Amino acid sequence: MGNVGAKEIPVLLSPEGLRIDGRRLDELRPLTIQAGALHQADGSAFVEWGANKVLAAVYGPREVHPRHLQQNHKAVIQCRYNMAAFSVDERKRPGLDRRSQEISKVIGEAFESVVFAEEYPRTSIDIYIEVLQANAGTRCAGLVAASVALADAGIPMVDLLPAVAVGKVGGAIALDLKKEEDNFGEADLPMALVPQSGRLVLLQMEGHMTEAELAQALDLGVKGCREIYEKMKQALRERYAIGPMAGASS
Ligand code: ADP
Repeated sequence: MGNVGAKEIPVLLSPEGLRIDGRRLDELRPLTIQAGALHQADGSAFVEWGANKVLAAVYGPREVHPRHLQQNHKAVIQCRYNMAAFSVDERKRPGLDRRSQEISKVIGEAFESVVFAEEYPRTSIDIYIEVLQANAGTRCAGLVAASVALADAGIPMVDLLPAVAVGKVGGAIALDLKKEEDNFGEADLPMALVPQSGRLVLLQMEGHMTEAELAQALDLGVKGCREIYEKMKQALRERYAIGPMAGASS
């Protein structure tokens, strides 16, 4: 365990190749997805992923607000990602900061590549993502929740959009970073995949990797996305197997 000033850097990878929480390098954190978690929304989902807790609500297609954003040939997709003030250890300043704006933008753009927006001209599809508890990878958890919520709202899409962050910790490429790995690791690479085509519609990177490591990271991330994809489909099957109100009580 090394020391930098007063700050202790945890050992991120054991000699046996296990991570800080005992996971293997290619192992996801536990993930549960509940489709249809809210009553008011047209579609919704609640995702618990490791220590992340994220709620997504979808409204629309509905009238566009503000009006000037309306488009004559397609629906506009408006996304708002927000982290609750109580979602992190130190209280976060409430409201839309630059980070939230950036995440809202990249998630909205990812959905523009899969939603059949031309089918609903002059309307808005509104996606709200609320992070209730954050432990790294919240934009990916938000994408997964919003994607299931869009499907729950009956919005036609090419495919669901599984997402995961891959990174470099203790010199090795690892799937689905948790907070300590994100903070003290060497790189963080969130991505979202269209499973049908294998196309990535979100890819960001913080930190450094070699070209060979990047190729390995992309490969690992795609495998992780495919695992998550199965859980997303299962959540929707569970929601609709028992009847239209399954999962919600009135
Ligand atoms: P992501 O959540 O998609 O990994 P970041 O890499 O920006 O996005 O953030 C990593 C983690 O850092 C978050 O999941 C959260 O746990 C923490 N974090 C982000 N912003 C803040 C903040 N303003 N205050 C405290 N913790 C934060």
